[in-house]
Amino acid sequence: MCCLVNPLQEPSKLSLCFDHFAYPVVLKLSARLNPTKTKGLRLGKWRSKKLPFAASWVDDAIKINGIWFGYGSPELLTWNEKVDLVVARLKDFGDRHISLLGKVTVINRFIYPLLWYPGTVLAAPEGFLVRLERAVFRFLWSGKTELVRRKVVYQVPRQGGLGLVHFPSKLRFLLTKCVYSAVDSRMPFVYFVRYWGGLSFRRFFPSLFSNSEPHSWRPTGAYSQMRETLRIMSTVGDVSQSSARDLYRAVFDELVGQVQPNHFASGPEVWRVVHSRSLDCRRRDLLWRIAHDAIVTNLKRLRWSLGDGICPRTRCTKWESVSHVFWQCDYVALFWEWFQVLTDRLTLCNTWAVSQDYALYGLSPPPCNTSVQDILTFVSASIKLALWRDRCNIVFRGVGRPADVVLASVRAEVKLRVESDFVRLPRSAFGRWWGPLVSVRAGRVVVNL
Ligand SMILES: [Zn+2]
Repeated sequence: MCCLVNPLQEPSKLSLCFDHFAYPVVLKLSARLNPTKTKGLRLGKWRSKKLPFAASWVDDAIKINGIWFGYGSPELLTWNEKVDLVVARLKDFGDRHISLLGKVTVINRFIYPLLWYPGTVLAAPEGFLVRLERAVFRFLWSGKTELVRRKVVYQVPRQGGLGLVHFPSKLRFLLTKCVYSAVDSRMPFVYFVRYWGGLSFRRFFPSLFSNSEPHSWRPTGAYSQMRETLRIMSTVGDVSQSSARDLYRAVFDELVGQVQPNHFASGPEVWRVVHSRSLDCRRRDLLWRIAHDAIVTNLKRLRWSLGDGICPRTRCTKWESVSHVFWQCDYVALFWEWFQVLTDRLTLCNTWAVSQDYALYGLSPPPCNTSVQDILTFVSASIKLALWRDRCNIVFRGVGRPADVVLASVRAEVKLRVESDFVRLPRSAFGRWWGPLVSVRAGRVVVNL
């Protein structure tokens, strides 16, 4: 319980106030105020005065529901504590082997919620935002080089991003929400909003703010930020009539902006394949990196003045670019020949040939139904994942396997996925997903690879 005692002029009246809470008989309450668990902040003329009731009295700042109030810089104190908490939580998750998409889920669902409550009360200082963003992206890229621009990572998946919440936009939006609460409420805090918002809010809510009420000429930092956010939101129309989604989007577009595709493999078709429902996080992660050229190949290392840039496969002397790793290298020919035979059998179409655009980005797929498309997307992603794992084994462990052995592991992975889905999914759903590739005999699934 939080209680504000202001107009008492005599300590005896304050004492009477506490007696009401300390002795439940007076108020006929079952709850009783516990002095050892009670804290008080003395303000103004009350500072340094001896007060009744054996509570813990302080003169500088007090913490209420995780937020500091009082003298000094309570905003900085609160936000610094929150950043320390975020950094500690990120460190806990940092030891685990999580894909990029998994890390984004961790940040959006477990880390950022720590900030939403203080975000509705206090404006976040710029230095805090910089420190938090640095910690989040260090976690996302495991402390290594950031291979994709932050602006891109913040975009939604259908536009090539990872859907990471842009917390400065959301914090601004949450803080400004209290203005909307004030518009529809008759609670006493409304007078604070009208006083501090004053004339600057009148532009957005003309009927609620007038010269007949007292108002501040110099709003605090939080109210100044609200005014700026309302200005941004007003670009979508009447702020009192627009949906929360549109208002948040307006703030996001102002602070982050749209990303213009600068590569032919940045269209919606590519992102649809990357986030195909048949793919797990590991495969989506790899396809997303391929589409953004965000894989540390030897050619990329050479651009950083590291290494010779040559493909590490035996007897291959070509530059190791992304397209070389997954399509142009002689080593991968066997994989795509096998994939071509599988595609011909599933699509019953012998005029389509697997191309580099399909192998890398899923563009120009064969003519077939959605179910077959999903199977082919999964199999091609499994090929690329196996190729990249084998390439990393050569570079980091000096152990490479023959192509036919790696291809056998791809087959085994696909079979394992089918068998696990056979156990996990209802028969009808399993048939819709894997029907073209499997047959069921005597209650057992047979994968035709
Ligand atoms: Zn090669």
